[in-house]
Amino acid sequence: MTAQKKTPRKTLSVAPIEGERFVFNVESENGIEFYRVDLTAISLTVRAHGTTILNTFNGQCDCSHFQFRLLPLARHGFIARCKHILAVRDYFLDSIMNEYLKAEIEAVKRQERSA
Ligand SMILES: [Zn+2]
Repeated sequence: MTAQKKTPRKTLSVAPIEGERFVFNVESENGIEFYRVDLTAISLTVRAHGTTILNTFNGQCDCSHFQFRLLPLARHGFIARCKHILAVRDYFLDSIMNEYLKAEIEAVKRQERSA
């Protein structure tokens, strides 16, 4: 078995677009352009361990790498995500985890106050 070399990903700037649910602007690697990423676009049906999981969102990006190379794969049912989609998914998971941890800390504080 060979170890797979992974290049560390640069942290790209991600900003939610106000009024648009699950849609974000992502800074390009050169910091000049922005790409629009819609996390809910292209819903896939993925089978994992014999269980059908519905609504696995591939997401869609308007960068040329996604539009010309990855979109055809995604349309054929493959998970095909560019670095901008991956950056948004990281951002989104971090946001959820932060909210979750904040809620957990608040719950502990409430418990301590009532004890
Ligand atoms: Zn992209």
